[in-house]
Amino acid sequence: MNENFLELRNKIDKINIDILKLLNDRVELVKEISDIKDEFKVDFFDPIREQEMLAMVLKHNSGLLPNELVKEIFTVIFQTNLRFMGMNREKKLIITNKVDNSFKNIHQMFGIAGKEPVIIAGPCAVENEEYLDKVASLLTQNNVKLLRGGAYKPRTSPYDFQGLGKEGMKILSKIGKKYNLVTVSEIVDIRDLDEMLKYIDVLQIGARNMQNFELLKEVGRLNIPVMLKRGMSATIQEFILAAEYIAVQGNRNILLCERGIRTFETKTRNTLDISSIPIIKKETNLPIIVDISHSLGRKDIAVPIAKAAVAAGADGIMVEVHPQPELALSDSKQQLNPEEFKELMHSLAVRND
Ligand code: PEP
Ligand code: MN
Repeated sequence: MNENFLELRNKIDKINIDILKLLNDRVELVKEISDIKDEFKVDFFDPIREQEMLAMVLKHNSGLLPNELVKEIFTVIFQTNLRFMGMNREKKLIITNKVDNSFKNIHQMFGIAGKEPVIIAGPCAVENEEYLDKVASLLTQNNVKLLRGGAYKPRTSPYDFQGLGKEGMKILSKIGKKYNLVTVSEIVDIRDLDEMLKYIDVLQIGARNMQNFELLKEVGRLNIPVMLKRGMSATIQEFILAAEYIAVQGNRNILLCERGIRTFETKTRNTLDISSIPIIKKETNLPIIVDISHSLGRKDIAVPIAKAAVAAGADGIMVEVHPQPELALSDSKQQLNPEEFKELMHSLAVRND
């Protein structure tokens, strides 16, 4: 190589560094603009402005680069800057803002405020009043305050029991009042919302609806506590962003629920991702509980898994209980019978932290 060649390369190296510096200067300004856009809740993407900027750049193009290549380069710059704005906004999520006080309420209800893990228990589905009465009585004897029960059941097969619907909510509400229990039930359709608000204290959004963004927005406009379950194939970040959908609309009464994710493992119904608990606790200011029933699909390992969840920092446990699981119309393999439930409660009596 002759000396001139090396010198040219050195010049290119210098230009690369200069371009990088200019790109970073640009991003610095973009960041300021994105903060202003955030404040005024303006969309980041402004196609008209992009067209104008591109036209202005092309007008000034008097070099060797043909316009179509200049256009390509600047399109990439615009796109990456737009992505930068998104990343900048994600860093400032409402639910990851540790100094935000608006989450106090939900912590008083479910979170770190209490020493004992919060227990949400009840049958997979509300099947009849007699069964639910038995479960509620069991809960009361064990000092459990939250009664779950599905009225609308998202079932894999359309031929399976779909829940009692409104009748189920009425039973849940009646038994909840009788035993002074907080009721938790899943909403699967935005059109049921008004009716559910009459009967239910905590709305559950199930795994299959974790990214039903319109549903998330709708419950976000209310104040009712929402228990959001992790989608079966959702990453932790997607889970966090789904919760942000609710928070950004104003509702800060959000409780997260880890319920396992789909993997190749078949010994359990899902794979309980225990690592999500400390990660969520570290990165967000939301309480999180673990559903030991749907994550396992079996009950013989309920006790060690519940203990593991609590040891990992979970604020509570959700578990399915049925007076006679073998007769249950859904999830019969994973629902605890009253004896098994008592044993679980006993094993969780001491929190080792
Ligand atoms: C449930 O808790 O009733 C339920 C259907 O769970 P998931 O949405 O986690 O499958
Ligand atoms: Mn179930």
